[in-house]
Amino acid sequence: MKNEPLITLPPAAGRAMTVSFLPRLVNDPGGDPGTYVRIRHERHAALFDLGAIGALTPRELLKLSHIFVSHCHIDHFIGFDHLLRTILGRPLQQHLYGPPGFIDHVGGRLRGYTWNLVTDYELVLHVTEFDAAGRLTTVPFVCADGFAPGAAVTTAAPDLIIAATPRFRVRTALFDHAGLPVAGYRLEEPMQVNFRRERLHAENWPPGPWLTTLRRAIRDGVADDFPLTVAGDRHTVGELREKLAIIAPGQVFGYLTDLAATPTNLAQVHRLLTGCDVLFCEAAFLDDDRQRARQTGHLTAREAGVIAADIGARKLVLFHFSPKNHHRRELYYRQAGAAFHGELD
Ligand SMILES: [Zn+2]
Ligand SMILES: [Zn+2]
Repeated sequence: MKNEPLITLPPAAGRAMTVSFLPRLVNDPGGDPGTYVRIRHERHAALFDLGAIGALTPRELLKLSHIFVSHCHIDHFIGFDHLLRTILGRPLQQHLYGPPGFIDHVGGRLRGYTWNLVTDYELVLHVTEFDAAGRLTTVPFVCADGFAPGAAVTTAAPDLIIAATPRFRVRTALFDHAGLPVAGYRLEEPMQVNFRRERLHAENWPPGPWLTTLRRAIRDGVADDFPLTVAGDRHTVGELREKLAIIAPGQVFGYLTDLAATPTNLAQVHRLLTGCDVLFCEAAFLDDDRQRARQTGHLTAREAGVIAADIGARKLVLFHFSPKNHHRRELYYRQAGAAFHGELD
């Protein structure tokens, strides 16, 4: 059990929370989309979209275990080769997720190269695509087999929860992007369970693995009378929870890109991302280009602000700015800020 200090967010958040997800844009907001999410006290990291990723260090790329791609337009997927080049010789299990057709796109990129000298490499790409009905299809691409596609496995994903680890789970929804399905993502952690250190001292209970067991028992909702031994004495989960635990909802990160502000898309966003703490959201255009935004399946800055306000986000980070507005970037923040009064970046 690590000593994790409680980090309290500003009062505007309305709730105290340990910040576990540390998301940041890979590029400038006018560059290719991509958000790198470091997870505190976790060896692995997640990436949302695979645009140009030259700004990430090899060390950062090697930490990735889960990559979530919104769609395969070139500005969201051109980083695939760079990633592959970096991780190729490593014994990694890399998980990639994307909308319908994603497996074929990844397969196509892999078929573009010759792989006769990699038969002792241990890299495996597990590539998953999902549909709106909640069907997940996963195909392994094994480096030692020259990345020939393995057997597809199809499973059901209730609520479109497509990935789950002890530290986080990811839910998705598909949006319309000028006729193309585009995935948005919700990354959330389980409820946060912290312990009152002063009570531990008062009871003379030494920190140890039992705290990890207790945390897991609380998260899993085991029965109150479930026994747990602390420093040789028998206690119950219910008693220890009452005495020690501070329980808070887990942190939620949202990623949205390349969707028009149609009523159907907005209703889907509301369902997927209500209760999101930090939203990374595209804002390709300014308000004077809202017709063009609608035609090309994009959002304006004002629409991004409306979405962030609607889902109750604490913080909004904008990206995907059109290059033609390079000289008037402050307008993105002004227009989003007219609709959203939280922290804006
Ligand atoms: Zn696109
Ligand atoms: Zn795009």
